[in-house]
Amino acid sequence: MDEEFLALLADLHKGRARQGPGGEAETDRAMAWALADIDPKQRLKIADIGCGTGAATLRLAAALNADIAAVDLLPEFINVLNERAQAAGLADKVSGHVCAMEDLPFADGAFDVVWSEGAIYNMGFKRGVEAWRWLLKPGGVLVASDITWITGRRPAELQAFWEGEYPEIDTASAKLAVLEAAGYAPIGYFTLPERCWLENYYLPLQAELPDFLARHGNDAKAVAIADAEAEEQKLYRENSAYYSYGVYIARRTDEQSI
Ligand code: SAH
Repeated sequence: MDEEFLALLADLHKGRARQGPGGEAETDRAMAWALADIDPKQRLKIADIGCGTGAATLRLAAALNADIAAVDLLPEFINVLNERAQAAGLADKVSGHVCAMEDLPFADGAFDVVWSEGAIYNMGFKRGVEAWRWLLKPGGVLVASDITWITGRRPAELQAFWEGEYPEIDTASAKLAVLEAAGYAPIGYFTLPERCWLENYYLPLQAELPDFLARHGNDAKAVAIADAEAEEQKLYRENSAYYSYGVYIARRTDEQSI
């Protein structure tokens, strides 16, 4: 992706509360499952990878006694995240890092929890869960959401479209098998409801498009971004019965010698 395109995407998205489908209740649900067996008295070490402007980071920081390393490729998002953490009085719990999820600057075993909402597709689910396992302490927990088929069958055209966009789109059972093969024991899985896509993500983004185009409307790339956004939303509205984000919660396992 070229620089101008990335800058335009950052400009469109940085003023929104979140940069992908999700919700506070859903972050809370994943948090409850992930932390059920973790001692609440210790100060937790958490990484939020592909954090955007911090929707999940700030929710986790508000709820937990934790140090949260929030990572994103785009400095514009990390700047907003830092401002939001400051404004919420949570800056002592949150540190923003501008870096690539493929090349994280953390030590093996540094975290109790690795969190990632709506971002692991950038690396691919399999590659991401394999690479991030080492960031977890033994027994630590991964929470990652990824695009998932939510029915056993779907229209062939839709399947072909998504396999072109993201070849790792799959059913939950297939993704749970990827987690098991990568050295995790699944704790839980749920799908994001429509509200997380429409009310929390697409509608606020759609409301921003006229201003975005007013700022950049002479730019063909900006027009292309707005058109692609409208297409993506239409696809979701027509096919929300077939796909959503699945939220996967899984514990790092370390086999004794077998
Ligand atoms: N977790 C946030 C953002 C999800 S959008 C939320 O739920 O709102 C996906 C995020 O991944 C974006 O902020 C994007 O900038 C970031 N991203 C994309 N490629 C990345 C990479 N290679 N390394 C780190 N972050 C990346």
